[in-house]
Amino acid sequence: MLIDTHAHLDFPDFSSDLDGVLDRAAAAGVTRVISIGTSVESSRRAVALAEKYPQVFAVIGVHPNSAHEAGDNFIADLRALAAHPRVAAIGETGLDYYRLPGAQRLRGSPAALGNETPGDIDAALADGQRKSIQAAVFQQQLELAMELGMNVVIHEREAWDDTLDILRPYSGRLHAVYHCFGKSPAHAQQLYDLGHFVSFTGIVTFKSAGEAQATAAEAPADRFMVETDCPFLAPVPFRGKRCEPAYTRHTAEYIAHLRGEPLETLAARTSATAETFFRLSR
Ligand SMILES: [Zn+2]
Repeated sequence: MLIDTHAHLDFPDFSSDLDGVLDRAAAAGVTRVISIGTSVESSRRAVALAEKYPQVFAVIGVHPNSAHEAGDNFIADLRALAAHPRVAAIGETGLDYYRLPGAQRLRGSPAALGNETPGDIDAALADGQRKSIQAAVFQQQLELAMELGMNVVIHEREAWDDTLDILRPYSGRLHAVYHCFGKSPAHAQQLYDLGHFVSFTGIVTFKSAGEAQATAAEAPADRFMVETDCPFLAPVPFRGKRCEPAYTRHTAEYIAHLRGEPLETLAARTSATAETFFRLSR
């Protein structure tokens, strides 16, 4: 009844017990799982898993944190992979300014803020180059999605305005889901207005996640989905442990409670949204 719309089943965390992981998901009512690629190789592994397991579908793409390693042929490689009938969308793609090397360096040494060393300045310049590469790799994947008539899974971190600026010209021509959504209802409204969607991970169950909770409580019933982003971001009460698709249920129960509706209602609506967005019933 529930669909985990964002899992990284190809990660080594699951290499020894994936059958058990998927059995536990089914037992928890999580009957389908979308496995998301983060590079061409990871996307290839996601497609192989979708071939092996009837309840698994693949999304193929290059994550912004891997954009600088994408190589020259990644679009041709993704296009070839997309011909596979179990490929459900393009992604995850987008912009991530949080994990840029220079940004990490400055975060690591707060004393350096306003008092940067030449090394910090080099790192900031390198960040500028990384940002342009991310933007180009993102835009090429949007073009590919348009060409293939597919939707897009977006990863955005500390890059809200730039991500929207790149995405805006595609409004009405493709739909995007902002995964792991943690921003305010007003931010989400900007996405709904452009025809896009949000999805919530276990973060929504954290005490500190007031904005995500407000957005989940108010989101139009046909504009959001649920996910784990496993192996990361296990919801309460598993916080800090390896996350797995079964825990989609905890996140869904939490959001249903926030919205004052039965889990069955939320499961039916979010699954219908995911089926359409990812074209699962083709
Ligand atoms: Zn992810």
